[in-house]
Amino acid sequence: MSRHVLVTGASRGIGAAIAEHFIALGDQVVALSRSGSAPKGCAKSLTVDVAKSEEVSSAIKSAVAEFGPLDVCVVNAGITRDGLALRMSDEQWREVLSTDLDGAFYTARAALASMVRARQGSIIFIGSVSPFIGVPGQANYAAAKAGLVGLARSLAKEVASRAITVNVVAPGLVDTNMTSDLGPASDQLADMIPMGRIAQPAEIAGVVGFLASNHARYITGAVIPVDGGLALGL
Ligand code: NDP
Repeated sequence: MSRHVLVTGASRGIGAAIAEHFIALGDQVVALSRSGSAPKGCAKSLTVDVAKSEEVSSAIKSAVAEFGPLDVCVVNAGITRDGLALRMSDEQWREVLSTDLDGAFYTARAALASMVRARQGSIIFIGSVSPFIGVPGQANYAAAKAGLVGLARSLAKEVASRAITVNVVAPGLVDTNMTSDLGPASDQLADMIPMGRIAQPAEIAGVVGFLASNHARYITGAVIPVDGGLALGL
């Protein structure tokens, strides 16, 4: 049966691959991003800044009114504004926290309002290995992504009795716009990855698809690294 799937940050990169994964399964995918662009086959694309609480809740309300209760919510939208902490501006800190953590909370809260009524659903946050390995220049990003783990695990306990699962997928390095300006550093980073290469977005999407499937109904509060072994053992 076709599911109602919402994906934030679906205009490109990992979010677009996740949207395409669900579209290929015949699901109705609603895509959210600031640009409003979305992969072909999405049921709807909405222009939303996830850092704005009212925009997120009205977009999700309109998606639920049009396509019914949400079955799956993938909280993927994210940005980086890297810089060493000593030189990091308040704006760099706030922008990342607002999008990557506040935005994730606004999205999950609005999605849960629909899922709790329906007594089923899956929320999947796209985290990162950054908080587990520590990355110089990413204090803002690592803090936001660490926050997602606490958010997901608390929500998982709040809604487990309603058969709603809440999990985090933590990618390592993935070939998207976010990592495209790494240049030669990308090869150096690849050398640190036991599998010797960075991931393609579809490799993240496949794990998200699994967590949203009936095979994963007993998995909740988990953090699943998809990193070629980068954060292995942490
Ligand atoms: P991209 O920069 O390629 O895509 C980011 C997506 O988020 C875009 O669709 C963008 O759309 C959207 N977005 C950004 N800010 C907002 C906002 N305020 N409101 C709504 N949408 C927004 O990045 P990736 O695909 O690489 O990253 C996706 C997720 O995966 C992020 O959470 C990132 O932290 C995480 N991740 C990525 C890794 C990597 O190596 N690439 C590694 C680990 C985690 P638009 O600009 O149109 O708004």
